Amino acid sequence: MVKISILERDDYRLQFIIEGIDSALANTIRRALISEVPVMAIHEVVFFSNSSSLFDEIIAHRLGLIPLKTNLEKYYLIDLCPNCNGKGCSNCQVKFTLQKQAMDTPILVTSGDLISEDPEIFPVSSNIPIVLLNPGESLELEAIAQLGYGKHHAKWQPVSCAAYGYAPEIIIDFSKCILCGKCVEVCPQKILTVENNTDIRVNKWFKCIICRECVSICEEEAIEVILHNDKFIFTIESIGALSVNDILKTAINTLIDKFNRIISKIREVVNSQ
Ligand code: SF4
Ligand code: SF4
Ligand SMILES: [Zn+2]
Repeated sequence: MVKISILERDDYRLQFIIEGIDSALANTIRRALISEVPVMAIHEVVFFSNSSSLFDEIIAHRLGLIPLKTNLEKYYLIDLCPNCNGKGCSNCQVKFTLQKQAMDTPILVTSGDLISEDPEIFPVSSNIPIVLLNPGESLELEAIAQLGYGKHHAKWQPVSCAAYGYAPEIIIDFSKCILCGKCVEVCPQKILTVENNTDIRVNKWFKCIICRECVSICEEEAIEVILHNDKFIFTIESIGALSVNDILKTAINTLIDKFNRIISKIREVVNSQ
C-alpha cells in the first residue's frame, strides 16, 4: 500500500516521504511535475524601441524566463482555446507593456516595470533585472504571455526543483556497539545521539545524506546505512507561478488521465480481437 508522510510544507516548498512505489513510478511523478503542468510565460515580444546595449533577442529571452503568477482556472492553452482556435485572444493570452527611458542617470529595468493587463497575472518577483539603460537609452515593448508546458521549453517549468532520493535507514547492531560515540561526533547532520550511555538514537533519519562517515569510523562494524528501493524522499520547490499543491495535483491528474487513456486503448484492442 502506498503511504505518504509530509515532512515540510508551505505554499512553495513541499518535502514528503512516499512508500510503496518503485523508482520507475517515482521518476514518472518527477517528470510530470517538471513537464506536464502548464504555467504562464512570455512567448512573444514586439519591440517599439530598444537603444540599450542588449539585442532584442537577448531581452526577449530574459523576459521569457521571468516567472509569472498563473491562474489555470482562467486561461486556456492557446491550442485548446475554444474562443480563437489558436490565433490568440484574452482567454489564452495576457499582454504586458514596458516603457522606460534613462535621462541623466543609468536605470535598471526590472520585472517590476512590466505592466500587465490582468492584475492576476504578474511577475512573481519585481526585482528581476532585465537590462541596464544608460543615459539617453530607452526601451519600449509589448510582451504576450501564454500557458505552455515545461516539455516544450524550460521557461514553462513550474518547479525550480523536483527531486527524489532513496530513503536511507541507519541500522545499529547493539550486540556489537560499545557506545563509544564516535559515529555521533562524526555525523555531519548531527542526527545520532547517545542516550543515557545505554543507547544510540537516530533522530530525523530523513536528514541523513548517506555519507557513511558513521560506518567508516565504527571499528566494531556495528552501524550500517542501507537504502530502500520502495521508499523515497521527494522535494518539490515551485518557481512561485503556482502553489506546490496545485502543481502536484495537476501533475497527478495528468498522469491519471494518461493511464486511463492507455487502459481504454488496451481494452479497445483486446475487445476487437
Ligand atoms: S561508532 Fe560504532 S561502536 Fe561506537 S557508538 Fe557508533 S555504532 Fe556504536
Ligand atoms: S550516513 Fe552520514 S549523515 Fe547519515 S547517519 Fe551516517 S554519518 Fe550521519
Ligand atoms: Zn484564445
